Amino acid sequence: MNRHTVTLIPGDGIGPEITEAMRRVVDATGVSITWEVAHAGAALMETEKTPLPAATVESIRTNKVAIKGPVTTPVGSGFRSINVQLRKELDLFVNLRPVFSLPGTGARYTDIDLVIVRENTEDLYAGVEFEEGTSQALELVKFCEKTGAGFVRRDSGISLKAISETGSRRIVEWACEYAEANGRKKVTAVHKANILKYSDGLFLRVAREVGERYADRLEFEDRIVDACCMGLVMRPEEFDVLVLPNLYGDIISDLCAGMIGGLGIAPGANIGADCAIFEPVHGSAPKHAGKNVANPTAELLSAVLMLRHLGESEAAGRILNAIKQVLAEGVSVTYDIKRVTTGSTEGSVSTSEYADAIIACL
Ligand code: NAD
Repeated sequence: MNRHTVTLIPGDGIGPEITEAMRRVVDATGVSITWEVAHAGAALMETEKTPLPAATVESIRTNKVAIKGPVTTPVGSGFRSINVQLRKELDLFVNLRPVFSLPGTGARYTDIDLVIVRENTEDLYAGVEFEEGTSQALELVKFCEKTGAGFVRRDSGISLKAISETGSRRIVEWACEYAEANGRKKVTAVHKANILKYSDGLFLRVAREVGERYADRLEFEDRIVDACCMGLVMRPEEFDVLVLPNLYGDIISDLCAGMIGGLGIAPGANIGADCAIFEPVHGSAPKHAGKNVANPTAELLSAVLMLRHLGESEAAGRILNAIKQVLAEGVSVTYDIKRVTTGSTEGSVSTSEYADAIIACL
């Protein structure tokens, strides 16, 4: 039997509870995994003085595969997002978010099956920002005036949106390769090139060039991001694989998560040439932390993606089927699912009881 070593990062808030549920379910499949627990998150600030210790990054580099719970990022100030740091440091340029309907979720849509491929390293997430009132921000404002680039108010905070040819080409190529390898028929590139001519314009030009190369194997189209949102809500069956720059990918994946029943069931993967980190789309939901009530399905489905990545497709399929069975029965489900399906949280089970029900089905 294969033996894998995987870095396990419990994270903040509900992270430790849902990753523990995930670990128990994966172990119950019999796949042999050594879990190397490493820490990251806001909770480390007091003890380690950093939310992302070097040892954690090193563990991922060595094991090449990690699965994590969500981590808390302070809004507006404080340290930069750990997820963004990890993605940049390990060059995890792909954010893969499959979105598919599951039974028993009470979702508004019941027949969704699409895949979001989000660029993970550039765009407004590159972290090139200038705080309002600083000499650098003022210099940039003056530079814009002097060069005739445009008028920017002096009391502006500035975040740079940079999209490169290199970044665009590799993400669109990855999306096309993924589509082909997974029997998908169509790739849609999403942009706002009508307004952002140099950043999104470049992304669109490169996407069309790459799409052209796959024309005999894949249908390729492009859509403006606002029209794409409307299209997804009105005619989701028109979409198959979507490839997007970072920010649109972030927003559209939450929109799609909402279509299939919410954040509690949307998985994700961050993939680079050397390493991959699997994690749910949702955050650390601090208000539910420590209560053993959060829904671990997104974390479990992230483990399904991880097992496929490790070549353990049989175990991945068994977990997916067990999740479908437990959700379809609608008895041993967490509060969020119960609330949507019955209008009340009455009779919902805890995070760990839900994991027990999945294990019983395996
Ligand atoms: P969130 O996803 O943590 O929570 C939003 C709401 O969704 C919660 O209040 C809860 O009602 C519900 N929810 C989310 N996950 C759930 C689950 N598994 N089960 C049941 N209900 C669930 O979003 P937020 O409140 O905007 O963010 C909280 C923190 O998480 C922030 O610090 C944010 O930066 C961080 N965050 C981290 C990640 C990550 O680590 N990958 C992703 C997104 C947000």
